[in-house]
Amino acid sequence: MEKLQNFVNGVYCPPVSAKYFDNFEPATGEVYSLIPDSDTQDVDAAVDAAEKAFPIWSGMSLEERSKILVRLSEGIENRMDEFVEAESRDNGKPMSLAAHVDIPRAVSNFHFFATAILHFASESHYMEGVGVNYTTRKPIGVVGCISPWNLPLYLFSWKIAPALAAGNCVIAKPSEVTPYTAYLLGKVAQEAGLPPGVLNILHGTGAQVGDAIVKHPKIKAISFTGGTKTGEYIARTAGPMFKKLSLELGGKNANIIFADCDFEDMLNTTIRSSFANQGQICLCGSRIFIERPLYEKFKQAFVEKVSRSKVSFPMDPAAKLGAVVSKSHMEKVLSYIELAKEEGGAVLTGGHRVYLEAPYENGYYIAPTIIEGLAYTCRTNQEEIFGPVVTITPFDTEEEALMMANSTEYGLAGTVWTSNLKRAHRVADNLHAGIVWVNAWLVRDLRTPFGGVKSSGVGREGGWEALRFFTEAKNIFIKS
Ligand code: NAD
Repeated sequence: MEKLQNFVNGVYCPPVSAKYFDNFEPATGEVYSLIPDSDTQDVDAAVDAAEKAFPIWSGMSLEERSKILVRLSEGIENRMDEFVEAESRDNGKPMSLAAHVDIPRAVSNFHFFATAILHFASESHYMEGVGVNYTTRKPIGVVGCISPWNLPLYLFSWKIAPALAAGNCVIAKPSEVTPYTAYLLGKVAQEAGLPPGVLNILHGTGAQVGDAIVKHPKIKAISFTGGTKTGEYIARTAGPMFKKLSLELGGKNANIIFADCDFEDMLNTTIRSSFANQGQICLCGSRIFIERPLYEKFKQAFVEKVSRSKVSFPMDPAAKLGAVVSKSHMEKVLSYIELAKEEGGAVLTGGHRVYLEAPYENGYYIAPTIIEGLAYTCRTNQEEIFGPVVTITPFDTEEEALMMANSTEYGLAGTVWTSNLKRAHRVADNLHAGIVWVNAWLVRDLRTPFGGVKSSGVGREGGWEALRFFTEAKNIFIKS
């Protein structure tokens, strides 16, 4: 059985404890590799290496740093097939999705920040007759990046790339549920000529190695993406240590559809925004609100198309949905479907596990599920399910739609469908969310601020926001 390894000080190494745990393949439910069960000892070793590397990496010219990161980006691109296959196997997502979204985006993340850093300017404030202020922006030092399982390399690189570009040395931990592509990244870092100790990748559980990263006194900033409960714990732990924190957390996004929208475009996009990656994208719209005159037409077309969406093993080119990420997650999603029924919901399609033929008979497959008839206040409509389950609810007025959309503790993203320009602006403006798409979904420009409000997080990633997060500003005043 293949044993994954940590990547510390530029080389692959086993965890100090020599302990491992199982890595499951969601498509089959079988164990296919072993994950290092790292702990504080591994974090100590990684921090030592990172501290030593920091003067070298932060002292390098921007051009040199940028070139190395461009090579890292190209290194992933050159190994596209290997990364695509690994991501799909580790996560259960259709290979086509990993090939079109996950891995190309990891390539772009490194390329984007490798070049963005060349244009990152700091401010100067001139005071007439008094003097001039100028602000320097220096890397923080050793920083921690902790990422989730839904878009493994995509989100891992979304944090690591700006941290490195800004001149920091990184202790990174991918999710223990999907460690494989982060494991492969070590090789690419070596080939790209990243100096040893600049990027250290540790595997293991959140409670053990993740916690050790959050608590390590020499790790000065934590960039975290994951669940709201974990984010709350991290804030409680790292806050009193005065660490810089960026928290990208859960969501329960609303998709508001007005009767005057472009129906076909809306329908096709709504199918994606509901079920792409088996609904396991933090930006998926899981609560769909439809203006009443369109409700029946939408419901009929939506149910008809979704019930034909093929759930299949990830390598099947016809698969629209693959496996969800783990057995426990599958059970959680199925339990929410049961809850929805108890709360009075009617399952219009799906609502059950899907059993494929051997060798996939034990894989974690769920039919895409549409539920109607629920109150917007019920648990199914308030709590994050993070699977292929959506609810549909009619509304009569714009105010009612906004009231229901804004009723959860979350505020990550929202989608508005209308051809009325004034209404589009008004509704987008009044949605409690960090990101809103009008007549679109998941169009991403890496320069834009990314993040949520309320329990969906604190801080913003993307573009200058990320480079600002990973640097410390110092203002210097000179009297004229
Ligand atoms: P999770 O919170 O369980 O784990 C995320 C990461 O944190 C993993 O690497 C995990 O090992 C680590 N971790 C867990 N406990 C920890 C601790 N005590 N200390 C330090 N690290 C710890 O989340 P998940 O189940 O992997 O991911 C799903 C969640 O992520 C969903 O809630 C989803 O909405 C959210 N998410 C948010 C965004 C966003 O941008 N806002 C993007 C993707 C996913």
